[in-house]
Amino acid sequence: MIDIENTINEYLRKLPRCTRYVVITSPKYGKNDYRCELIVSVKDLLPWAENNLKILSGTHKSDNEIHAATKALPLWLRNADLLNHNSSWIPYYMYRVIEGGINDFVVAKKAKIFCCECQHFVKDITMEKLDFRKEGDTSLWTDEWHCPQGHLLYYHENELRFSFLYGTRK
Ligand SMILES: [Zn+2]
Repeated sequence: MIDIENTINEYLRKLPRCTRYVVITSPKYGKNDYRCELIVSVKDLLPWAENNLKILSGTHKSDNEIHAATKALPLWLRNADLLNHNSSWIPYYMYRVIEGGINDFVVAKKAKIFCCECQHFVKDITMEKLDFRKEGDTSLWTDEWHCPQGHLLYYHENELRFSFLYGTRK
């Protein structure tokens, strides 16, 4: 357990003021499935962050770093300087908060995609589900996204158990 209010205040004190755009994922955030940088405007990220906080408030989670970052995120975004058109970087635990929502921003075409190989923003990326196969009651496939030049932007191996879909969960 951590002192949640203290941790939130620490977050907000250490972070530079948020700007108009936020880099929601980058290889710089550590080892992850993304080989590109995705940038979302505060206008689009704030409603997501507020809703995400609502979902968290409805669950009984222990106070941890991710909980603190979930609470700090909308506060930080609300105070953004929208006249500053630079992109802001986020600390590790805020990345962990946003992680699960990243693909939705891409599918909704609300993310600007920077290919680290091309070194510029790309449009019309291909999003494919490849290598689909079944092993027993488990479906496996990989998600791959590529830029128009063929550079890999995202790679994720999926594993979905049939029984998980149809109700062994209590
Ligand atoms: Zn590229």
